[in-house]
Amino acid sequence: MRAFRYQGTPGRVVFGAGAIGEAGAEVEALGRSRALLLSTPAQAADLAALARRLGPRAAGCFTAAAMHTPTQVTEAAMAAYDQSGADCVLALGGGSTIGLGKAIAWRNDAPQLVIATTYAGSEVTDILGQTEDGVKTTLRDPRIRPETVIYDPELTLGLPVAMSVASGLNAMAHAIEGLYAPDANPVTSLMALEGLRALKVALPVITTAPHDLAARSRALYGSWLCGTVLGSVAMSLHHKLCHVLGGSFGLPHAETHAILLPHSAGFNAAAATGQLAEAAQLFGGDLGGGLWDFAADIGAPLALADLGLAETDVPRAVEIALAKPYPNPRALTPAGLNDLLRGALAGTRPVATDPGDIRCSTRA
Ligand code: NAD
Repeated sequence: MRAFRYQGTPGRVVFGAGAIGEAGAEVEALGRSRALLLSTPAQAADLAALARRLGPRAAGCFTAAAMHTPTQVTEAAMAAYDQSGADCVLALGGGSTIGLGKAIAWRNDAPQLVIATTYAGSEVTDILGQTEDGVKTTLRDPRIRPETVIYDPELTLGLPVAMSVASGLNAMAHAIEGLYAPDANPVTSLMALEGLRALKVALPVITTAPHDLAARSRALYGSWLCGTVLGSVAMSLHHKLCHVLGGSFGLPHAETHAILLPHSAGFNAAAATGQLAEAAQLFGGDLGGGLWDFAADIGAPLALADLGLAETDVPRAVEIALAKPYPNPRALTPAGLNDLLRGALAGTRPVATDPGDIRCSTRA
């Protein structure tokens, strides 16, 4: 067995159908009494219902959360926090709303209660991505990780199927990259595999029966595990490419993850055969091809071209992705990334690489 270091992550999790009913008690468990409630405009009605339920524990509602956490939205939310007399934040939603809560907490150290309603996993990480003047930067800080997370699968029954599929694959990408992370350990690998298994069973059911509470519960459970992996170990090529395509080309977050995953996993599979063996087995032996088949079966988007990426964008994306070094199981070359991105652009099924070919090309 390889030597490892394990760092447990703090945070309290309350999981179960109807768990939103415990939001007031969880505000009090934080030692606080007045939460500024946060959501996107799309979830404003749900937030208003939560505010009514919380009564005096709701200091106010701020419903302008937006993708990629623009700093001008955070500044408006900070003003709302101060004016409302809030002493903590409560984010109801997916990664966009959770990002706003984290941005506030990073600035004023407010305790955070999150009620997570997608599978993106941000609620259990210490990572904050923010956008200023069109440039997205990412930082990690212990203040950023929410103190308490409520997972209530009933709140995900209405998450549209297309969003559920893309968000579920987004979660699976955290697990795949966690398995070959340089700082992976037996606990994060257990969580990654269990998360993959849960989502692999749940997502196909959700596509035909979106109101199936058992499948929704299993998917949310899987997303918690995969998110915890994201928040525990270093990510590699896949997350780098998604960051580049989202930050510099404006591609949507979850769909970009969904499309790239089979290609990035296929690219790395032959260089991390040991770490990925059980995941590959789950998807029929060939990880990249198996993930692509799974994604196609559940109706995920397959081609970056359909998200608006052009062939002429590929060289610049490769250049940005290679500008700074980061750990990755397979050596990164312009030609390798170019092939990967062109496959994802067209949406073709990735072809398995022979480990011997990789060793040769790495030495060359
Ligand atoms: P999102 O939060 O942008 O949500 C997409 C839309 O779906 C929003 O309009 C939202 O209100 C709506 N929605 C969410 N849950 C719903 C539900 N249950 N029913 C109906 N509608 C619902 O999407 P996302 O993919 O969760 O988050 C993407 C953002 O999160 C990106 O900015 C990404 O960078 C960030 N993110 C950050 C981390 C991190 O660790 N920092 C991790 C993952 C994602």
